[in-house]
Amino acid sequence: MTGARSFSGLTVIVTGGAGGLGRAIASAFVAAGGQVVVADVDAEAARAAADDLGEAARPVQLDVSDEASWISALDEVEKRIGKLDVLVNNAGIYAPNIKFEEMPIDLWRRHFAVNSDGVFLGCKHGILRMKQRGGAIVNIGSAFSITANPLGSAYCASKAAVLMTTRTAAASAGPYNVRVNAVLPGAVPTPMLMGNVTGDTSEADYLAALEELSPLGRLAQPQDVARAVVFLADAANGVITGSYLSVDGGNMPGA
Ligand code: NAD
Repeated sequence: MTGARSFSGLTVIVTGGAGGLGRAIASAFVAAGGQVVVADVDAEAARAAADDLGEAARPVQLDVSDEASWISALDEVEKRIGKLDVLVNNAGIYAPNIKFEEMPIDLWRRHFAVNSDGVFLGCKHGILRMKQRGGAIVNIGSAFSITANPLGSAYCASKAAVLMTTRTAAASAGPYNVRVNAVLPGAVPTPMLMGNVTGDTSEADYLAALEELSPLGRLAQPQDVARAVVFLADAANGVITGSYLSVDGGNMPGA
């Protein structure tokens, strides 16, 4: 069980915290008592999200693909708030609807820079900051970490790397009592998902078609993903590491 205020006094960073899922995750940690850092490449959006979340939230500018940016953001958090306890590597990008054979190499590399390098750098510097006291890292992969989408080759491959980075980081950081797990959301209504809608299809029709793929007949909402992240980050669940949890309405990735 996850206690209602299990994160009281703990410092939690959520990357991409100004976006659809990141904001819900940040909000769930605020509700659980955490001191939450909304870290985003979009400084203005991070500030607005932190303002909305109230006194327990602060904004920090962070480009997850840039190692120097990680070091300066983590220094700032330690100075202004406290030592890092929980890191959620949530920031990600997705350029949809591009055939495999038409994927430009620059765009392929950009997916890897944000989705894969960003998670690697977060795990690396998160472990370095947490290894004296323990802590938890949750990486946001995707159902497409496991299933192949012919119109999302760079996204799928870069999200597959998130799974193995989770496992190698967990194997390495276990002796420091730093746990590393992943959540794999299915389709969740956010600005990123709505970027898939093309042509004459309405957003409502697009979402209805996705719901039909779910045995439960429903999509996960950002709050569903946030609850799974909080569960994996909670020290009460401290024997879970190197794992992933799908939150996808039963759409069974890999099946
Ligand atoms: P979103 O586009 O709504 O938000 C993404 C956020 O990440 C934005 O605030 C953006 O400014 C930030 N960001 C982008 N590049 C960054 C960088 N280099 N450094 C720091 N911040 C950066 O997307 P979302 O739907 O909230 O997605 C959040 C995560 O969930 C992503 O990793 C995404 O791949 C994953 N995911 C989303 C879905 C979905 O259906 N929405 C499904 C599976 C996985």
